[in-house]
Amino acid sequence: MSRVLIIGAGGVSSVTVKKCARLPELFDEIYLASRTLSKCEALQQEVGADRLKGVFAVDADDAGQVIELIKKVEPDLVINLALPYQDLPIMDACLATGVDYLDTANYEPKDVAKFEYSWQWAYQDKFKDAGLMALLGSGFDPGVTNVFTAYAAKHYFDEIHYLDIVDCNGGDHGKAFATNFNPEINIREITQRGRYWEDGQWKETDPLSVREDLDYQNIGVRASYLMFHEELESLVKNFPSLKRARFWMTFGEAYLTHLRVLEGIGMTSIEPIDFQGQQIVPLEFLKAVLPNPGSLSEGYQGMTCIGTYITGIKDGKEKTIFIYNNCDHAKCHEEVGAQAVSYTTGVPAMIGAAMMLNGTWKKPGVYNMEEFDPDPFMDMLNQHGLPWQVLECEQSPFKK
Ligand code: NDP
Repeated sequence: MSRVLIIGAGGVSSVTVKKCARLPELFDEIYLASRTLSKCEALQQEVGADRLKGVFAVDADDAGQVIELIKKVEPDLVINLALPYQDLPIMDACLATGVDYLDTANYEPKDVAKFEYSWQWAYQDKFKDAGLMALLGSGFDPGVTNVFTAYAAKHYFDEIHYLDIVDCNGGDHGKAFATNFNPEINIREITQRGRYWEDGQWKETDPLSVREDLDYQNIGVRASYLMFHEELESLVKNFPSLKRARFWMTFGEAYLTHLRVLEGIGMTSIEPIDFQGQQIVPLEFLKAVLPNPGSLSEGYQGMTCIGTYITGIKDGKEKTIFIYNNCDHAKCHEEVGAQAVSYTTGVPAMIGAAMMLNGTWKKPGVYNMEEFDPDPFMDMLNQHGLPWQVLECEQSPFKK
């Protein structure tokens, strides 16, 4: 008998809830809590109270409230699909109540745009000593991209040397400007300085200043920009043979123009300003006026292509492979009423939870996804809507 408590009721959560609900043999009882109760209730109406057994309001910035909630629900696992700001209070609550933990994004303090695992890795001993497990970053990127890398290292190479993670959204939602996941988190990530790993050190670039035009399977050529992404940090730690590790994301011209204008007028700033006697954070205000990513799926056309190019050595010879998934926005909408970015995150969150609950991935401590056997996770991707391909490339599409 397994019981999960999901925290957060946004775009990603709605996919995870629906996917878990279809697997009663793995998820006997599902409970959902979020800041806005009505969003949980709406999901319960869709899924049915027989599968989504209970819904609650919680402010997960407050570990005390999460502790009370966990005591009430008594779950085996907490799936954190709220925002990165809540990672630490929820981890604290899991420690206080003796429950395993999973999330899809690394902790960020609200007032500093600093993206690193240090805060969560600092919980390693506490989780180990308590005999509990925390699985970090069980989305697509981070998440599946870590598992793809582990799978390549296990089955295709003796040693991996160059890693390029590519994330292309070739879809069109028809809106002038909208982000595909939480706008605040998304814009914080994109506007930071670029960073990549090379020859044993981090190198920085100006935001979105390095571009490659890459050809994506079933999409075509898209402008791709180098940026920092959190999985790079754990992957270079766990695969020390990597000489270089980078992350690329595609952006259209219209998106970049909107972003430049918004940045230029200070709308993406996280510094509070005084507005009519009230302190407001411009980026939080911007989030409030942008479309809710969960609402974009109706009429969304096209696909995503997210994957990892890996170059390394096998039997003394250098070779490159590309492991990727294509995900179709319209098909996701048809299946669960979501767009592909929510879907590609929500499904791996369900799979990561399944791995922990059925004991396939289970050991005390705080772990990133590449630290476990990738094979059972890869099998579940194929079974639950995210089939992947391995392409043996003649050569890497990147300049060395
Ligand atoms: P949404 O903004 O759609 O949903 C976030 C949910 O969390 C909302 O229901 C929100 O409540 C709730 N929430 C926010 N603050 C609190 C709080 N203090 N207490 C309780 N609930 C709270 O975001 P997404 O669904 O798009 O993203 C969810 C997570 O997934 C994010 O952390 C994001 O970074 C991550 N992500 C990971 C990806 C990956 O591939 N690894 C890709 C995409 C996203 P309310 O509705 O009241 O605001």
